[in-house]
This record gives sequence, C-alpha cells and structure tokens, in this order.
Amino acid sequence: MTSILAMQEVKKHFPVKRSFIEGLVGTKAKQVRAVDGVSLDIIEGETFVLVGESGSGKTTLGKLALRVYLPTSGKVIFEGKDISALRGKGLKDFRKSAQMVYQDPVAALNPRTRIGEAIGEPLRFHGVRDSSARRERVLKMMRKVGFDPAEDFFTRYPHEISGGQRQRVVIARALILEPRFVVADEPVAMLDVSIRAQILKLLLDLKGEMNLTLLIITHDIAIAKYFADRVAIMYLGQVVESASKDEVFENPMHPYTKALFSSVPVPDPEASRRRLIIKGEIPSAITPPPGCRFNPRCPYVFDRCRVEDPMLRRSGDGHLVACHLYDRAGQRAEGEHSH
Ligand code: SF4
Repeated sequence: MTSILAMQEVKKHFPVKRSFIEGLVGTKAKQVRAVDGVSLDIIEGETFVLVGESGSGKTTLGKLALRVYLPTSGKVIFEGKDISALRGKGLKDFRKSAQMVYQDPVAALNPRTRIGEAIGEPLRFHGVRDSSARRERVLKMMRKVGFDPAEDFFTRYPHEISGGQRQRVVIARALILEPRFVVADEPVAMLDVSIRAQILKLLLDLKGEMNLTLLIITHDIAIAKYFADRVAIMYLGQVVESASKDEVFENPMHPYTKALFSSVPVPDPEASRRRLIIKGEIPSAITPPPGCRFNPRCPYVFDRCRVEDPMLRRSGDGHLVACHLYDRAGQRAEGEHSH
C-alpha cells in the first residue's frame, strides 16, 4: 500500500491579534493551536474520512494537505516530496495533482461567470490556450458529473441552476485537471438532505473512474459509515483515533469517538440507555486544557488525564488511539475504572 499523502507531526498555529490595551500592557501574543501535532498517512486509492466537530481543526488540516497553508512545524509529504519545499514547476504540478471541493458552491462560484467557463478556468490557468479544446474537455467533464445534455448547461449562470447542480459544477472544476488527490471539505453540508447521498455517490463513482484518492472532511459520522475506507477522528487540533471504517464502527475505543456515535439517533431503546453523552462545548484552541484535551468533558477522566497528554498509539491491527485507558497492548489499563 503506497502512501499518497503523509503528515508528520504537523502543527498550524495562528497568532491572535492583541487588543489595544493588551498591546499597551505588553501581554504576550496568543496563538490559536488549530492543528497541534497531527501525523497520518493517506493510502493511494482510498477514501479517508476525517470527522470532527466545528473547532476541531479539520478544515485547517485539509488546507495544510493542499498547501493553502504552510505548517508552523512538521511536514506534509505528497508522493514522497515535502510540499513546503516545492517551487516553480514542482509546485505547479502539485497544484494540478491535488484539488479541493469546497462546501459552499454559492461562495465558490462567481455569479457573473457562466458555468462552462468556471469549470474551464483551471485549464486556462494551466496553459490550455485553445478555446475549442478547452470547451471539449469541459463538456466531457460536465457529462461525467451528470449534466445532460451538457451543451444546454454550458452557458448558464450559477443562479440558473439548482444547489445540487452547483455542487456538481464545483466538483467538475476540481476534477477538470485530472488530479490524483482530492480534498472535499463538508461537500454536502450546504445541500438539501434529499440530494446529499446523490452527490456523495457521484464523488465515489468519479473516484473509481478517475483513480482518485479522496480525503472527505465532515462533522457527520454517518458519512464515514457509508463512504469511508478509513476514518480519523479529530478533537481540538489532534487526531484521537484512526482505523479502518469497520474497526472504528465495530470497536470504537476513544471516549470521544464513542460519544460521537452516541449522538447518532438509534431506534433501539436498550442502545439509547447505553448512550454516552458528553457535556459542554469544545474548549478554545487558544488555551487547550492541560493533559488530555478531552479531559474536561470525558466521563472516564482520572488523575493522569489532567497532567499527561496521551500519545496516539497502536492498539491492534492498524487501530490507533490516544487515551490513557488503553495500554500498549490495546487493552483497558488495569486498575482504571470502567463505565
Ligand atoms: Fe478520557 Fe483520560 Fe482517555 Fe482523555 S485520556 S479520553 S480524559 S480517559
């Protein structure tokens, strides 16, 4: 299995602007630790789903994967190369190979640009000057994403098509350069529930047809259940659990993962009674809690959790978890209470 994208201890901290008073009294500048030490490997050809609630740092992580942001520290390796070090042609090739599907098609599309031109813009930017060659490639891509007949839609403006069709345009534009790696950040969050499954299915069909590797970023654990090969769960800037989809859903280990599953409605009253409810909001990424970041919300918290940050450790076949409840062998640590 070849890794297409690897993150090695990646951090992204953003400075917080000091207020006038803070500047006067010399208060030390604060940092938002949006991504704080993430290591992961995405395997060529897979659908990797990154799940986290708002404020977990998942969107920042997606932008680091595409070099929209450069890391504060750590490395992002794409096909064996550190993307921070890319320049000139190497950088241009990377920009062709790795693309983003944005969550909000209204914001992503210029209302005054016809959709055929919008889809063809990356071709123009990457040197396809012949307008009839561009048009042919755009029409072919439009057919692939479900515009039929594509010619009828080519000259329409974004406001003349539906929300689902606009998201198909965004997908077509991301795929027109035939990338190998695509990050889709909440690709269906802005769409009607009735068409979400169609758009996700389209992405997966295109993945198969075009040999893509997909990183889907979502707050919705159900998307991981139906579409992932592997899943990572992110909490407050860190990956707390990662495994194959089957492993995560059959054997969730981290208390936060269990709580995420508990928040999905289930018809079985017995299962409802066993649900693990977490209290409170995700804390600020400016001053994350010391020790395990989940400790103020964790029903299993014990003394060690408040002082020692758990490492992401292997716990069984390809299953990684960052929690003091599990020892190196992947069992509950002895002497610690269970719920
Ligand atoms: Fe909960 Fe402690 Fe595990 Fe953190 S390390 S998830 S606080 S049990």
